[in-house]
Amino acid sequence: MKQYFFAAVLCTFSLIGFAQPDRWQQRANYKMDVELDVNTNRFQGTQKIDYYNNSPDTLTKVYYHLFLNAFQPGSMMDVRSRTIEDPDGRVKDRISKLSPDEIGYEKVISLKQNGKPVKHQTVGTILEVTLNKPIMPKSKVTLSMEFEGQVPVQIRRTGRDNKEGVRYSMSQWYPKLAEYDYEGWHPDPYVGREFYGIWGDFDVKLTLDAKYMVAATGYLQNAEQVGHGYEGIKKGKPKDGKLTWHFVAPEVHDFTFAADPDYQHKIVKMDDGPELHFFWKKDQGIDDVWNKLPAYLEQAIKYTNKRVGKYPYKVYNVVQGGDGGMEYGMLTLITGKRNLNSLVGVTVHEMLHSWFQFVLATNESLYAWMDEGFNSYIGNEIEAHVNGKENAHGGSYNSYFYVVKRGIEEPLSTHADHFERNAAYSIASYSKGAVFLHQLSYIMGQETFDKAFRRYYEEWKFKHPNVNDFMRIMEKESGLQLQWYKQYFVYSTKTVDYGVKNTFTEGDTTYITLERVGQMPMPTEVKVTLDNGDETTYYMPLRLMRGGKEKEIEGNWVQLSDWPWTHPTYTIAVPTKGTKLKRVEVDPTHKVADIDRSNNILEVSYVVEEGAGL
Ligand SMILES: [Zn+2]
Repeated sequence: MKQYFFAAVLCTFSLIGFAQPDRWQQRANYKMDVELDVNTNRFQGTQKIDYYNNSPDTLTKVYYHLFLNAFQPGSMMDVRSRTIEDPDGRVKDRISKLSPDEIGYEKVISLKQNGKPVKHQTVGTILEVTLNKPIMPKSKVTLSMEFEGQVPVQIRRTGRDNKEGVRYSMSQWYPKLAEYDYEGWHPDPYVGREFYGIWGDFDVKLTLDAKYMVAATGYLQNAEQVGHGYEGIKKGKPKDGKLTWHFVAPEVHDFTFAADPDYQHKIVKMDDGPELHFFWKKDQGIDDVWNKLPAYLEQAIKYTNKRVGKYPYKVYNVVQGGDGGMEYGMLTLITGKRNLNSLVGVTVHEMLHSWFQFVLATNESLYAWMDEGFNSYIGNEIEAHVNGKENAHGGSYNSYFYVVKRGIEEPLSTHADHFERNAAYSIASYSKGAVFLHQLSYIMGQETFDKAFRRYYEEWKFKHPNVNDFMRIMEKESGLQLQWYKQYFVYSTKTVDYGVKNTFTEGDTTYITLERVGQMPMPTEVKVTLDNGDETTYYMPLRLMRGGKEKEIEGNWVQLSDWPWTHPTYTIAVPTKGTKLKRVEVDPTHKVADIDRSNNILEVSYVVEEGAGL
C-alpha cells in the first residue's frame, strides 16, 4: 500500500511543480539569397543570421557547419567511410575518386559580426569564428556572410545528379550555425551521420534556371511568379531565363531543397492535416506507384497525429532525390524507383521524422535512438496496422538479439559518429531504440505509457529533449521510479534474462523459484497454468520502481511483493489444492527483451509416477 501512496504523491506534485520544462535554447533566424548556376553547379549567396544568445554564458566564439567540404578526397568522411569495419556501400571509396569539378565545397567570402569583419578559419567541415566582441548572455548579434560553393556529385544524401538522374538534392548545403546548449558547443565534424540544429525562422530566396522545378522546406511566397504546379495563377515571364523562388519556413532547424527540370508536381490536400506535395521525375515508369502513395501517407499522418501529437506545419513534401530516404524539415528526399511497398515504407519512416527529430529535435549525434528508434516504434505499429500483423515489434527485437549474440553491441549512449561498426550503430538506434519503448510500455503499462508519450510530445515539441527529459515525463505520468531503466538499457549493454529455476510441492502449495540470469533487472510477469485449467499471471515489480503498473491483461492477475534486484531468485507460492502445476511461463507477453527464452517455460509432466526413471 505504501507504494501506491508514494505514486499518488508524485502525480500530484508533477501537476503543481514541473509541468513545463524551462531549459533555455538559442535561436537563429536566417535570411538567405542564393543563386545556383545549373551549368557550373556552383552557387553563391548571402546570409544574414540574427543569433539570439539565450544562454547564461558569454560566447567568445561561434562555429558553423560547412557540410559540403566533406565531399573531398582525404576528408574525415572520406577516410572514415573507407576504414570503418563495415563500409556503407553508397559511399565506400567514392569520395576519394572525385575530380576537382565533382567535389563539394563551401567557401566564406566575408563574415561580419554586427557589420564588422571577424576572424574565421575553415577546418574541414567546421568554420571556427573568433568574435570581435563577446556575445553577452540574453543578447542578439547579426552575423552576415557572403559565401560560394560547389555542389558535389551525389555521394551521400546531398549532391547533384544522383543515380536516378535528379539534378539537385540540396540538403546540408548552406553554412549552418552549430548549436550551443546546456552541454556546450556541438561542432561535430561531418562524417556522414547525424545532425543537430538551432531552432529559428528561415526566409530563403533561390534563383536558378526557370526550367527547373523546386521543392523546399517551407511555404512558397511567390507562386504566381514561379508556377510549376504551385497554387496561384502564373503571371509574367522569367527574366534572363531565371526564376527566383521565395520560401519562408517558420520554427524549423534546417532548410533543404531539391531542383530538377523534369519533375512533375502533385498536391493533395488533407481534410485535417497538411497539404501534401509530391515531386517525381517524368518518364521513369514510376507514375503508378507515386500516384498510389498519397493515400497511404494520409493514413499514416492521421494515425500519428492521434498517437503522438499533431503535425504542426502547413505542408509536407515527398521529393524524389538523394540516395535512399532521408528526413528534412517539412520534406523528405527519397529515391523514387521502388515498388509500392518500399516507397510507402520509406516515405512513412521519413515522414515520421517530422515528429522525431524535426519537432522533438533531439541531438541526433547523442541520441540517434530517440529519433530513429522512436520513429521505428511508431513505424512498426503503422505497418502492423496496415498489414493486419499482430507482433508489430518482433523484427526490432530480433535485430537487437542479433547484435547481442554477435557480441558487437555498443551502448545506446555512444555518440553516433563513434560506433565501431555501421551495423552496431543502426541496430542500436533503429531496433534497440524501438525495443526501449516497447519494453518501457510493459514496465509502465501500455495505457499509462501511451498517455505519457503524448505528454512528452506536448511538453518537448520545438525543443531539444534528451533521454533524461523523456524519462522524467515517463516517471511523472506513471508515478514510478524509472532511472534504473535508463542506466541499464541506455548506458550499458547489460542484458535481460529471467528463467524458471525449479518447483516443488509441499502440502497444498507448489513453490516456483524464478531466477535472474542476466545482469539487467526487470519487473517480472509469470503465467502459471494448473492441471484443472486455472491460469494466473503473477506480477513482481522491481523494488527500484517504488510501485507497480496497473493490471493490463485479461484473466487472473496477482501483484506480489516486489523483487529487489540484489536477489538472484524469487519464490512464488501457488495454491494447488486438488490440482497440480502444469505450466510456467516467464514473460508471457514477450515484451521483455529476454535474450534467452529457452529457460522461460517449464512444462510439468506427470507420467513419470510409474517409475520411468526420470
Ligand atoms: Zn530514420
